[in-house]
Amino acid sequence: MAYNPYDNVLATVEKAAKILGLAPTDYEAVKYPERELRVSVPVRMDDGSVRVFQGFRVQHSTVRGPAKGGIRYHQNVNIDEVKALAAWMTFKCAVADIPYGGGKGGIEVDPSTLSLGELQRLTRRFTTMIAPIIGPERDIPAPDVGTNAEVMGWVMDTYSMLNGHSTPAVVTGKPLQLGGSLGRAEATGRGVMLNTVYICEKLGVAIENVTVAVQGMGNVGSISARLLYEKGAKVVAVSDVSGGIYKETGLNIPAICDYLSTRGNLLSGYNEDGMTRISNAEILESDVTVLIPAALENQINAQNADRIRAKIIVEGANGPTTVEADDILEKKGVVIVPDILANSGGVIVSYFEWVQNLQALEWDEKDVNEKLARKMEKAFGGVYDIAEEKNVTLRTGAYLIALRRIVDTLRYRGIWP
Ligand code: GLU
Repeated sequence: MAYNPYDNVLATVEKAAKILGLAPTDYEAVKYPERELRVSVPVRMDDGSVRVFQGFRVQHSTVRGPAKGGIRYHQNVNIDEVKALAAWMTFKCAVADIPYGGGKGGIEVDPSTLSLGELQRLTRRFTTMIAPIIGPERDIPAPDVGTNAEVMGWVMDTYSMLNGHSTPAVVTGKPLQLGGSLGRAEATGRGVMLNTVYICEKLGVAIENVTVAVQGMGNVGSISARLLYEKGAKVVAVSDVSGGIYKETGLNIPAICDYLSTRGNLLSGYNEDGMTRISNAEILESDVTVLIPAALENQINAQNADRIRAKIIVEGANGPTTVEADDILEKKGVVIVPDILANSGGVIVSYFEWVQNLQALEWDEKDVNEKLARKMEKAFGGVYDIAEEKNVTLRTGAYLIALRRIVDTLRYRGIWP
């Protein structure tokens, strides 16, 4: 059967609901996205032709607050993926205990094939088409795979123009000059680093003795790698779309990040003494303490789960491990810090950004990072404790906490009318 990430979400929810002893009526509504919008976005290309792109915005839940979640630009974006990503946001925000539901958007496009002008026109037209359902109290987009602060700036400006006044709180992950938060660009990677440190502490492994492999050197992967390197971990393998590199004694992560941050640079062009080239499949199977999948969904699945040699997996990406792989890895004793906890640093600082925007305040970076660490530690501790208590995986533990919070809120709100 073809992989459908939304089935993955439903299977995990059912498992948690059973352990919580919920009646089907308690959580029936959580199984369906509240709202799905599909738009066809016409763009005038630089050569004068017109191309029409398929775009989506899904609001999975607004039970605990406005929908919240990124916008993805990728050639494989489709409705089932966006639905799953929206649902994961609902559970992520509930685990972090921030007052949001979950949403996600996406456009089926490879952004690397567009000029900057085309990208801007695509973003502005898409924003116009989803404008009726977004807003600071309704649904707040942010960056995801293939989008960045610059793109969020166009979303902010377009929405503000339509709204008649500057509305920075409509989107997070903006440039600092438009009301973005200090620490937001690094926040997801910082959260991944913190979760890695916490789990290593729990398992009694000193961070200096940890070896790390990172799949995906985009925003999340590269910052996780750099912060773990700075903590003294040995990052031995990293990869991007062009393939991977490996060095037993540890890679020079700052040099790699410098190299990649120059627009358009890929790992295939990078070189350092003693490194060898490996494939993207090999990186997942490297013999390391910690594996950080920080690319896309469905990377660790029934086909390769048996060959995973890492002791710990910290999910930087959303949905990198399938339900089948989860079972195999549990039997092997691999500890997984699940996506909805591990990569929640991004949305936590998005929440801080939104709070600053609503109050027209600017917090300093130290303040933001400390607040993030406090939230992250609390979320991790809660998940770890319930997983111990119920003797379940950290993923199930995270869903137990999230589902409990959502269902409790739903019970107080009731089903209207
Ligand atoms: N796209 C990020 C995620 O998947 C961030 C979402 C946000 O900040 O709203 O968590």
